[in-house]
Amino acid sequence: MERVTLHDKTFRIYVPNEEIEKNIQAVADRLNRDLADAEHPVFLCVLKGSFMFFASLMQKLTIQPEIEFVRLASYCGTQTSGEVKQIMGLTGDLRGKTVVIVEDIVDTGNTIVKLHELVKEQDAAAIHTCTLVMKPEVYDKELKIDYCAMDIENRFIVGYGLDYDQLGRELKDIYILDEENN
Ligand code: 5GP
Ligand code: MG
Repeated sequence: MERVTLHDKTFRIYVPNEEIEKNIQAVADRLNRDLADAEHPVFLCVLKGSFMFFASLMQKLTIQPEIEFVRLASYCGTQTSGEVKQIMGLTGDLRGKTVVIVEDIVDTGNTIVKLHELVKEQDAAAIHTCTLVMKPEVYDKELKIDYCAMDIENRFIVGYGLDYDQLGRELKDIYILDEENN
């Protein structure tokens, strides 16, 4: 699909599935190498947005991970609200574990910084940050993003788990807001 309309907005294709998968494979290769000696690292899926990235990444791991889920929300429509809410809390025991936080997208970084604090409070032994997409122009936090599959310009995207007001998460490609048609 070249274009997709969700609610009142039209999006055009930006990153096709094959390229997304290739970039995820590169991240998986690095994780497989870097965490080869960690004992069952815990991969933390940040819902809802990272479900598709998370599933793809898990299928590409050769190390044996444990899996946990957490659900946060910070967006309202296409604007970041600044405030990050914990909707479904962290339940697994992370004490002494190597944890990899798996995000869909790092924009201002508010969400990942908050998550990093949450995981740290649980006395994890090591914390790594991993994201499908990052907007380096916007990110202004000290926290280092260890693994990033793709950098993008400061534009609003949907697909591959990412939504526009809850629609578009199922799309296998990534789409960008089409300025000409909005
Ligand atoms: P941050 O806290 O880094 O500003 O934003 C992170 C969260 O905002 C992401 O986990 C994601 O849910 C949402 N977000 C940021 N940029 C985009 C975007 O371009 N598209 C969509 N669909 N969500 C975004
Ligand atoms: Mg997210």
